[in-house]
Amino acid sequence: MALELIDLIAAPLADQFNRPINYLRISVTDKCNLRCVYCMPAEGLPWLPKSDVLSFEEIVQIVRAAARVDVRSIRLTGGEPLVRRDLWKLVEGIASVSGIEDIALSTNGMLLTDQIERLRDAGLTRINISLDTLREDRFFEIARRPGLDRVLAGIDATIAAELAPLKINCVVMRGHNEDEVADLARLTIDRPLFVRFIEVMPVAENVEMQAAGYISSDEILELAASAGELRSVSGPGGNGPARYFAFEGAAGAIGVISPLSHDYCDRCNRVRLTADGRLRLCLFGDQHIDLRTPLRAGASEEDLVALLQGSMAIKPERHHLKLGETSSRMRAFSEIGG
Ligand code: SAM
Ligand code: SF4
Repeated sequence: MALELIDLIAAPLADQFNRPINYLRISVTDKCNLRCVYCMPAEGLPWLPKSDVLSFEEIVQIVRAAARVDVRSIRLTGGEPLVRRDLWKLVEGIASVSGIEDIALSTNGMLLTDQIERLRDAGLTRINISLDTLREDRFFEIARRPGLDRVLAGIDATIAAELAPLKINCVVMRGHNEDEVADLARLTIDRPLFVRFIEVMPVAENVEMQAAGYISSDEILELAASAGELRSVSGPGGNGPARYFAFEGAAGAIGVISPLSHDYCDRCNRVRLTADGRLRLCLFGDQHIDLRTPLRAGASEEDLVALLQGSMAIKPERHHLKLGETSSRMRAFSEIGG
């Protein structure tokens, strides 16, 4: 009995820089129903063969091992996670894992209205929805597909389902949507939303627009402040790297995420599982370990725990990402599990 108990308690995950790692982002697919200019090529990616993609059961096995080393928060992302239409089954599986406290979803919102109730009932706790523009013509330019009305309906459905806090992610690009920052910020006045403006990050797919399209978060804040005076506020919690500000009396707040101008590596608490079962230690580095091969060869939960702990030795201290960098390591977000 005593031995079994000792067996169950594994040391919490921490890297060699003493950062506790308690947050696992899981890319459930590399596929997407949009083709955002900053993320993916117009023709899509060479999609993974279905047999390479982890099944929900395999993902839950990894989550179980992760929970043993103190991972408490999970985010499901992609690609577009809702293209796996039965995603609620995965949410249900993860919700049943002892120790998991928070199951969040990042989605483009296109398929949300149909799925939200099942996801919530299965145990989803929070949602982030991407919204880069309020104009249909712009939406088509940026996402290379129509669908703004569906995304807006997804936002309303999430508010109605009372899944809070609802965060809206907006990638700001000069020449594409910087003139809408104030309008997007105003959405927070009447609605309980946290609109987070993200500096565009350089990946191989957006090399051409990086230099011209990049706007720093300081300039984004100035654009937002044209809609009213902003004061610094504390954020809604969660694992985000955003700094938050609010208009006087607003129901929500805006945030800025600055991976380039104010990188947040010091506070990094996360690792990423790709759709094909690699554990990536840094979004912008190639350091990873393969979990799928041992998993399919019959690895036990203890084996997976040992692999997770061993992976900490290769988690880098920080990324050295610079604007205009065109390293081949910077593959499409979708491929690496944004
Ligand atoms: N498809 C979902 C979505 O769009 O929300 C989830 C995956 S997406 C890769 C996750 C987030 O990464 C989205 O908010 C998206 O806007 C953001 N993103 C993708 N490429 C980016 C880039 N090059 N720079 C900054 N953010 C990016
Ligand atoms: Fe798809 Fe999200 Fe990438 Fe847009 S940002 S192409 S919605 S994965």
